[in-house]
Amino acid sequence: MTGNIYPPDPPRNIYAKKHIQALEMEGLQAVSRAGGLPIMLPETGTPSDAEQMIELIDGLILTGGADVAPQTYHEKPISERWPGDPKRDAYELRLIDLALKAKKPILGLCRGCQILNVYFGGTLYQDITSQKPGTLLHRDVEKYDHNNHFVSLEENGLLFPLYNKARLKVNSVHHQAVKDLGKGLKASAISEDGLIEAVELARPLNSFLLGVQWHPEWEGNPKLSLDDGQKIMAAFLEKCRGTS
Ligand code: MN
Repeated sequence: MTGNIYPPDPPRNIYAKKHIQALEMEGLQAVSRAGGLPIMLPETGTPSDAEQMIELIDGLILTGGADVAPQTYHEKPISERWPGDPKRDAYELRLIDLALKAKKPILGLCRGCQILNVYFGGTLYQDITSQKPGTLLHRDVEKYDHNNHFVSLEENGLLFPLYNKARLKVNSVHHQAVKDLGKGLKASAISEDGLIEAVELARPLNSFLLGVQWHPEWEGNPKLSLDDGQKIMAAFLEKCRGTS
């Protein structure tokens, strides 16, 4: 699992003057609950470390966090509010490349779905609200992971057989989304307002690759009355066991 990279932050009371890499707790627990052993894949700055990490793991999870930097998909930023994290982008693009070559399963969560699309040459809405007016509220700072909407599933996609139905209620905590779909990918879930919310390989060959724009790892709370994201974690881990 890739972590988020936090730059020095003076008001922080731990490692205020240092960079930190961190993973979100419920994501770790969702992997563990599905029978996997979550391991962080930190960016160390040593390129050969990434190669060794990919050799060690059974599958790659690209987690959520910072925005993808517009320059990573060759666009100019529309606002200085969303610079993204180009360093994390470059690191994750390299991990995706190595994992694909090693035929290790890949699961992208939220930002992970976006960076997968960018890897395949796709682009993103830098900010859904300003670039696609009239859409639903895909991120609500107050409601956070209680914010939700429906997505329709592509019948021939990876998600449909997991749920055996055409519509899922998913959480929504993102202000960016897939704009132009990457080459070699297909959309496997579309939100009520027409945004691509899941991507996978158009021709899967021997590889498992799935990116979902929501956070299946946060859907365990029954009070949220969402479709069970753990099905996605379980399907991914089943593929991981197949490679070990
Ligand atoms: Mn959404």
